[in-house]
Amino acid sequence: MTKFYTDSFEETMKLGERFAQKIEQGCTILFFGDLGAGKTTFIKGMAQGLGIESDAISSPSFQYLKIHQGRLNLYHFDLWRLENCEQFFAQGFDEFLQDPQGVSCLEWAEKINLIQLGPTIKISLQHERENRRIIEIQDEKAPTS
Ligand code: ADP
Ligand code: MG
Repeated sequence: MTKFYTDSFEETMKLGERFAQKIEQGCTILFFGDLGAGKTTFIKGMAQGLGIESDAISSPSFQYLKIHQGRLNLYHFDLWRLENCEQFFAQGFDEFLQDPQGVSCLEWAEKINLIQLGPTIKISLQHERENRRIIEIQDEKAPTS
């Protein structure tokens, strides 16, 4: 587990960008944290690191999945409105998580219960105060400083 502190939107973006540069293909990243914690911001940074226009990343709250193509395919899920875990599988979303040329990012990952996933990293974000966020990356390959 590696703990980071960021003090601005830009710092969180930068952390996401560096994280994406080291990402393993086929990896799934589960994001935890309240609304406004910075999940989408971190994913915007990841997009940048994957050669995807970061402006293309938004919280698709009315849409569960957005697909972006860069150095790897980025599958950006926002499961906030998902009613239950079965719905995720009924839509065949788990197929995307298995794309060896892809990276999947799941906001509100607590909504689903995934078993037998490939490489998985958990990222928890916490709103500490105004612009300060605590970001915990549960993976030994997290970027250092
Ligand atoms: P989430 O996807 O978790 O709901 P967002 O990334 O969409 O969160 O929103 C985070 C909000 O907090 C943005 O409005 C952003 O400008 C603001 N913010 C302030 N400080 C930070 C920080 N250190 N990291 C990320 N976002 C921050
Ligand atoms: Mg979001």
